[in-house]
This record gives sequence, structure tokens and C-alpha cells, in this order.
Amino acid sequence: MGSARITPPRPVDVAALFPELAPLARPAIRLHPRPGSPSVSESSVGGPLLWPADEPWPHCDGPHPGTGVSAYPAEVRLERRRRARLRVDPRGPHYTPEERAIKARNDAAFTERLDAGLPQPAECPVPMLPVVQLYVRDIPLLRPPGEADLLQVLWCPYDHAPDNKPSTALFWRASASVGDVLTVPPDPYEADYPGYVPQPCRLVPEATIDYPHSLELTSPMQQALGDWSRWQAAGDAVDSSYAAYPAEFYDTELAVAPGWKAGGWAPWGRTDPYPLNCAVCEAQMVPLLTIASFEWDGGPGSWVPYEDQAAAATDHLAGQNPAQPTAVEVGSTDNLQLYVCPASAEHPHTDLIQ
Ligand SMILES: [Zn+2]
Ligand SMILES: [Zn+2]
Repeated sequence: MGSARITPPRPVDVAALFPELAPLARPAIRLHPRPGSPSVSESSVGGPLLWPADEPWPHCDGPHPGTGVSAYPAEVRLERRRRARLRVDPRGPHYTPEERAIKARNDAAFTERLDAGLPQPAECPVPMLPVVQLYVRDIPLLRPPGEADLLQVLWCPYDHAPDNKPSTALFWRASASVGDVLTVPPDPYEADYPGYVPQPCRLVPEATIDYPHSLELTSPMQQALGDWSRWQAAGDAVDSSYAAYPAEFYDTELAVAPGWKAGGWAPWGRTDPYPLNCAVCEAQMVPLLTIASFEWDGGPGSWVPYEDQAAAATDHLAGQNPAQPTAVEVGSTDNLQLYVCPASAEHPHTDLIQ
């Protein structure tokens, strides 16, 4: 893991101001992914995974109708690599000899596919891409089954119904039981979007506390949050520009931490909240993981860790936004939420775009 990331304290202790919220506080862990070269024995976004060499790699059978705007993961990675290099050395070569060799390999593989007349890749079982692996030692709020101490999430980089999102697969495993590790997992030939190809990142987890989005609160609690006179007890700490809409201050600054996150409360807003119930036992499912398009909104907002504030405040080129370290984009720059059943890790998970 890299150096620490610390979120500035919230401008207001909302549970002190609204004691009725206190029982709803939920632990969350901001993952703070940052581009890097993690190993299989680290928690990471974008791989590599600690995957047993003798276990089949997950594939998705579709269907994959396609969006007509394919991206090629090998090309996406090469372009990101070039951009990162040119950011550091803007006067460097267009392609280094090594990058030219990668490009030649990619082009040769492309031509080989065409010449062989292989079926459209989306008609094949598609190898899934590593999205995240989390060791429980780093993310202690996870509740693994049995001896497991590692959660691995992969996705298929094509749009799937409903809501046009990658389809996800979850695996729990005991890391100590993994012998030989798969060194070169199969790579999908194609993805629907570059944003479905996660950039490898190290994680710098940070524990925080979430409160429910205001849309999830009872009507009396929503009314309490809308009462500006109650907020005034906090004095100057509450931004008075929110006087007409104090619930917006609550949602933006206090309730739900943005970005990649384990646990906590879910971001809502694309739709009104609705309960997600387990398909097996009907228990109300709980947020496991938020896969976010952005770590924070817009400019230097209050959720930007101290260590990133200088970078967040400067101009950046497309594809170099410090708020998008993973390069993942889902929905319309939304979040993909994974939910699990609190009763059993054996029950299937579900996901939701918000
Ligand atoms: Zn698929
Ligand atoms: Zn269940």
C-alpha cells in the first residue's frame, strides 16, 4: 500500500446536531485507489489477482449485443502508459522503442484474428477483467465466509441488461490455500468502453463513517434535516448558501463518502431508493462495494484527501483527472454498487447503477 490518504474532517458533526441519526452511522472504508503496480499479495484495483493456476478463469457467456464503439484493452493500456509518460516528460518521444514493440504486438494479434476469421469476440465466452481484490487485513469490515480472507471481483467489459452495466462476479478465497498463481490470465479482446478497463491501482484504505442519503431517511427525519434553524446551532460551520436546501448540504458534505468504497451507505439519486432483497432468503441486502467513476466531484471539494488537494486544484488534460485514478467510468459517470446478503455469502450478490 502507498502513503496515507486522509479525508478532512466533516464540517459538522451531524450526529451531534441530529442525535436521531446516530444509530444509523455505518462504518465505511474509502479505498483511495492510486495508479501503481500492485502485486498479487496486495489489495488492488485492476489486478493482478491471486488466482490459482489450476482454477478456470471466469468467463461471461453474454449476451453481448455490442455498442458499436469498441475499445481494445491492450490498446487502452498502451495509450494510458504513453499519456502517463508524456505527462512527466512532455518533450519525450511519441513512442519509445518498448511502446513501439507493444504496438507491433497488438497490431499483429489484431491481424492474426482477422486472418484466422475468428468469430466476433463478443460471440465467444469473454474472459472477465480483474476489478478489485481486497484482503480482509486491509478491509476489516468485510465479513468473509469460513476461512476466506480475500475478496476478488471481476467483470465482463460489455454492457449487460438491465441498465447497461458490466456483469460482475464475486469470489471469496483463503489466500493461504493458493499454491501456484496464474501469471498471465486471459485478456478480453474487446471492451464496450475504455472505462470498462480498470487501471491497476494500489489502495490506501481509510476508515470513515457514513450516514444514509437523505432520500433513505424517514419523513420526520427528512423534515428535521430541512429545518434550517436546527443547522444554525452549528454556527459558521454550516455553509449559509445551503440555507434554502440544508438537506443538500447534508447529502453533499456529510452523509455518503464518494469514490471507491467498502461498506457504508449507498449513493442514490439516479432513482429513488428502493430495498434490494436477497433472491434466496429475501433478507434486505447491504452495500458491499462502490465502484465509482469519480473519487470526488468537480474541483477541490471537502472530500479530497489532504494529500491530493494540490493536484485536484490544478488543471489537467483529458484522461489525467486525479479524481479518476482507476480510469473506470460506469453509467453516466455514476457508481456501480455491489450488494450482498447479510445472512449468507453463498447467496448471490446483486448490483445497481446509481
Ligand atoms: Zn458479458
Ligand atoms: Zn440471502
